[in-house]
Amino acid sequence: MAVDATQPYDDQNIFAKILRGEIPARKVYEDDWALAFHDINPQAPTHVLVIPKGRYVSWDDFSSEASEAEIAGFVRAVGHVAREAGHVEPGYRLLANVGSDAHQEVPHLHVHVFAGRPLGPMLA
Ligand code: C5P
Repeated sequence: MAVDATQPYDDQNIFAKILRGEIPARKVYEDDWALAFHDINPQAPTHVLVIPKGRYVSWDDFSSEASEAEIAGFVRAVGHVAREAGHVEPGYRLLANVGSDAHQEVPHLHVHVFAGRPLGPMLA
């Protein structure tokens, strides 16, 4: 079910549990600011989710409330994941769903990294 991106942060959301190590994930990268792991329902040969360690529901509260250090750290982590996996060429796609119209399912900000096949002009 899609989430309302204006809701308060829910500490029981599934990605909060992954961050706390309460449920497993296939991790590909972690630093002080971000965690990256394989999506359980991959839509491309590479489908990784990158999440900030802070308590943010979506790109909306993250972009308005996070510190400069959190934003920089998270953006660098997203780039690092794609670069280290060798996807700069032939390319990759980043996607962040926000709210119900975008079918955001998990109320913790996540950026999808898709790669490994021609992705077409748009995913939507
Ligand atoms: O952007 P959206 O919120 O729709 O995407 C949520 C993503 O989280 C889905 O691609 C889903 O497969 C993934 N997911 C996951 N591990 C879970 C629960 C959801 O990788 N335990």
